[in-house]
Amino acid sequence: MSNGNIYQSQRYYGLALDPIHVGTGGYRLGRVDLSILREPGDNLPKIPGSSISGTSRAYTAMRTNKYRRQQTIGQTQNNTPIIRTVSCAGKGGDFGEEHCCERDCPVCIPYGFSNGRTRQSLQGMAQFFDARLLFFPVHSMVGPVWITAPGALRQAGMADPPELASDQARPAAGLRPAANSPLAQLNLGWLLLQCGDELDTEAIATELPDLPHQDSAIKEILGRLVLISDELFSKVVNDNLEVRTSVAIDPATGAADDKALFTFEALPRAALLFFDVVYNNPGHFQVAGVPLTQDIAWVRQQVERGLALTGHLGLGGMNSRGLGRMKVLNLEEKNHGN
Ligand SMILES: [Zn+2]
Repeated sequence: MSNGNIYQSQRYYGLALDPIHVGTGGYRLGRVDLSILREPGDNLPKIPGSSISGTSRAYTAMRTNKYRRQQTIGQTQNNTPIIRTVSCAGKGGDFGEEHCCERDCPVCIPYGFSNGRTRQSLQGMAQFFDARLLFFPVHSMVGPVWITAPGALRQAGMADPPELASDQARPAAGLRPAANSPLAQLNLGWLLLQCGDELDTEAIATELPDLPHQDSAIKEILGRLVLISDELFSKVVNDNLEVRTSVAIDPATGAADDKALFTFEALPRAALLFFDVVYNNPGHFQVAGVPLTQDIAWVRQQVERGLALTGHLGLGGMNSRGLGRMKVLNLEEKNHGN
């Protein structure tokens, strides 16, 4: 979606390659110590846009050599250069003073900066929105299946998603436990549901904006997709989150802390999420009174160079415990490599 030369909205699909934990800041909820963030309205787990943006910013900085470097900011009276360390990743120090704020910076222009020292600031040319769940993996008597719901499909952009009764499941062709049997049932974890009409996954594949339905992972998911009601979707998702137990290590001794066992929840591997990034046209913005000269395609390219690394280096918490890789499936091809 776009509006002339003002902005371009791009839909991305992210596949969890590991369990992903984006926490709420660590308050205890029921059985887990560290819960993940949820959408208040439907209680479905989500990844906030700010987490995606912060991670992607760091990775764009890595790939463009802006992660940490020396910058000459002038010279002393006896011509000795004054050098400072700048890092365009992260928050840029306490007052944003470590961001370079240069008008050609592939990090500061797409992701924005606010430098308290020079009083220069620029909103990010890329605005990131929350990643929401679309397809969620659950085990069943016919092997792993992915569940979705009319509400999730509607949020993802399907104008007229298929409907069903609240106690039904509508599986993709070939998933019905007994073909042609009106009494066929399918379990999703502990929940046993009556099978309704076969689900037309072709319509879903073609009506979701930018879904890369030729991607092998998407093909597999669509072939094993089961539609359930919105009420059940939230329940089944929340009952099938990954809950892990881990132990905090005392950095001084390298040994496990006493009473440091904790549990945390995570989105399971193979969950599929979608999120939007809106790219603004830099031509409508200025730095220090001078209009920027880049275009929307340039902003998108810098951001996608960062997003490509979330499939390798991960996002969210617990990265050192083997969590967090999310592969963005529909990046422009040229942005994948180095
Ligand atoms: Zn910069």
